[in-house]
Amino acid sequence: MNQLSSKLNRLLAQLEASGRRVTTQRIAVCEALLAHSGHPTAAEVYQHVHAAHPAISQATVYNTLSALEELSLIRVLHIVGDDHAHYDLGVDPHVNAVCTRCGRITDIHTDTLEALLGLVATRSGYQLSPSEGVIVYGLCPECASIRAAEVSSF
Ligand SMILES: [Zn+2]
Ligand SMILES: [Zn+2]
Repeated sequence: MNQLSSKLNRLLAQLEASGRRVTTQRIAVCEALLAHSGHPTAAEVYQHVHAAHPAISQATVYNTLSALEELSLIRVLHIVGDDHAHYDLGVDPHVNAVCTRCGRITDIHTDTLEALLGLVATRSGYQLSPSEGVIVYGLCPECASIRAAEVSSF
């Protein structure tokens, strides 16, 4: 079994364990999420589902995404300056580095994140909600080198 299908089976097993029926539509949405492997928007998930299963409606895709979100099997990222919510299959705490130029989102996993969030919570007195996703903004390596080339051409 390849990695993708074992991930798919895990998602479907969790859906089933929550008492939801594993329908063709739900399988198609899970497949689309896994196939994207990044942080797709609902529209991107729908496009992917639609290509393989034209009969599945947009409402079904969006409802399935909501169900997966309710079960915390996926997480929604609201990115500043982006009108569309992005879905993240990585529900373990991680940092999402967002490029402010091209919109690329890169996952960074570090076991120091929990300690950092603990420190922030202690010092600020805030009850943090890391389940909202930790997001940092900047320029991705490609955009940084483009920007550097632009600056030096002046
Ligand atoms: Zn970029
Ligand atoms: Zn992520």
